[in-house]
Amino acid sequence: MALPARVDDSSPPYGTLIFDCDSTLTSIEGIDELAGARKHEIAALTERAMAGELALEEVYGLRLELLRPTRAQIVELGARYAASALPHAGELVSALHALGKRVCIVSGGIRQAVLSLSRTLGIDDEHVFAVDVFHHRDGSYAGFDEDSALARGSGKLEVVRGLARSDRRGGVALIGDGATDLEGAPAARRFVAFGGVVRRALVFERAVVSCTTPDLAAVLPLLVSTDELESLAREPAHAPLLQAARVVRG
Ligand SMILES: [Mg+2]
Repeated sequence: MALPARVDDSSPPYGTLIFDCDSTLTSIEGIDELAGARKHEIAALTERAMAGELALEEVYGLRLELLRPTRAQIVELGARYAASALPHAGELVSALHALGKRVCIVSGGIRQAVLSLSRTLGIDDEHVFAVDVFHHRDGSYAGFDEDSALARGSGKLEVVRGLARSDRRGGVALIGDGATDLEGAPAARRFVAFGGVVRRALVFERAVVSCTTPDLAAVLPLLVSTDELESLAREPAHAPLLQAARVVRG
C-alpha cells in the first residue's frame, strides 16, 4: 500500500467534497454488518486492510466470497446505512449543495447499499462511486465488479484524481477514516482524517487536518471558507447546522 509520508494542505474553498461512506458518513462498516455470525473474522480482515497491513485487493474478494450476500441482505444493509448516518450528514450535504459544491461519495462499499444512504442525503447517483455486486435472478450472490478500481488498493486515488481533474471550481477535499482514504489524499487539496467513529493512528499521524467529533457538523468549518460560512448564515435553513458546528467544536 502506497501511503503518502506527508499530506499537503491548502485552505478552502473547494469545488468538490468527497466523502468516504463506512465509518465516515455512517457509523457502521457495511461488510462487517453483512457478516452476521462471522463478524469477528470479517472485521479482523477489514481492520487490517483499513490499517494498511493488508492490500485491499487481498481482502476484498475474500470477504465477499465468504459471505456471498444475497440481494435481500444488501437491501437490508442499505437501510442500516441510512439509519446509521452520523448526525447532521443530510444538513451538511444540503449546505454544501447550497454553496454550489459537487458532493460525492467514493467508497469501497457495495454500490447498491451505498445508494440507499446517498439518496437519503440528497446526493445524485452519478456522484456515487462504489463497487457493484451482482445477483442471480433468485437473488443469490453472483460476484462483484472485479474491474472496479475501488476493490483494489490505490483505487480511491484513481477515482479522486479523476474527480479533481473534472473540477473547475477549486479542487477537491477528501474526508475519510481509513488507509484507502489516506491513499487518495495526494489528489486532494485537503484531506480530513475523520475519527468521529474510529480513530486510526496511521491515518491521523499523516494528516494535517483532522476531526474526532462524532457529528458531521464539525467538519463544515474545515470544508468551506469564512465567506461561505457567512453566506450560509444568511439562510435560516442552515441555522441548525451552523449552531451544531459551533457547539461541537467546543
Ligand atoms: Mg471508511
